Amino acid sequence: MSLYDFRDLKAFVKRRFDIDPDSVASTFQRITARLNREELGRRVRRMADGFYYKDDDGVEHKGFLYIGKGYSRPYRDSDTGEDTIVPRFHTCNCDTIAGQILKNNYDGHYVFSDVAVEMDEYDGTKKDPKLCSKCQNMMPHLRKRLTTEQYEQLLREEATKAGLFRTADLPKHIDVLESGYTPDWAEKSRDYRQRRKFTCEDCGIQLNERFVDGFYLETHHISGVKTDNRDLNLRCLCVLCHANVNDEHRRNYAHGPNQRKLSDFIQLYRGKLETVGNRHL
Ligand SMILES: [Zn+2]
Ligand SMILES: [Zn+2]
Ligand SMILES: [Zn+2]
Repeated sequence: MSLYDFRDLKAFVKRRFDIDPDSVASTFQRITARLNREELGRRVRRMADGFYYKDDDGVEHKGFLYIGKGYSRPYRDSDTGEDTIVPRFHTCNCDTIAGQILKNNYDGHYVFSDVAVEMDEYDGTKKDPKLCSKCQNMMPHLRKRLTTEQYEQLLREEATKAGLFRTADLPKHIDVLESGYTPDWAEKSRDYRQRRKFTCEDCGIQLNERFVDGFYLETHHISGVKTDNRDLNLRCLCVLCHANVNDEHRRNYAHGPNQRKLSDFIQLYRGKLETVGNRHL
């Protein structure tokens, strides 16, 4: 289960408290705006975790940027090997965005949006742009080849969650997500891995050289109780050690995104895993 997956939260709140989260004040609002240079500077805050667009009321909305119709050039998609004119979309201030802005090469090119986008492919078909790989490296919790439709969904969930936890009259005891993790788990887990200096407590591999490396360390609950986040119940483990904690974990890592993450990790860090003598290799 992804630590960033709040998809079930709405259904959970609906069922458990008989409240429709959609009726709770949420910051989500449909916005699509082509930006000239001045607006990009004044309206959009470019942060490591996202772009924030300030509306006329001064309210900020999180979304993404993409090169609008008529400005994109054909390129070869490295994932599919095919030529395309549908640009990637950007979720944060990656090298590409920062570089364009440095070069002053963006007047009217970029569109801010927080809703799904459909663009014309050169053969006339419609396509949903995919996530820029540099942005994905900077935001490793986002799936590779994420589409704008999927990102809109994540933005809605984030806004709903922010709205929910801000709303004072909701029951006070929403402390466990349906996944079994506490709502502050992502933060707790990150903090714990940081304090362990991004080092696996089993094989000893250190994954602290680049920002993205930390993605391959996970925080394991020793007792299996996912609400007990005391240090003595936690272990910072690399994906390979975590996947081999017990049979249940081995099953969890035998399919889907977990399996992909595990095989990516082994492929990327084989040399390092051999050096530390990881016994699961
Ligand atoms: Zn990007
Ligand atoms: Zn390990
Ligand atoms: Zn675990």
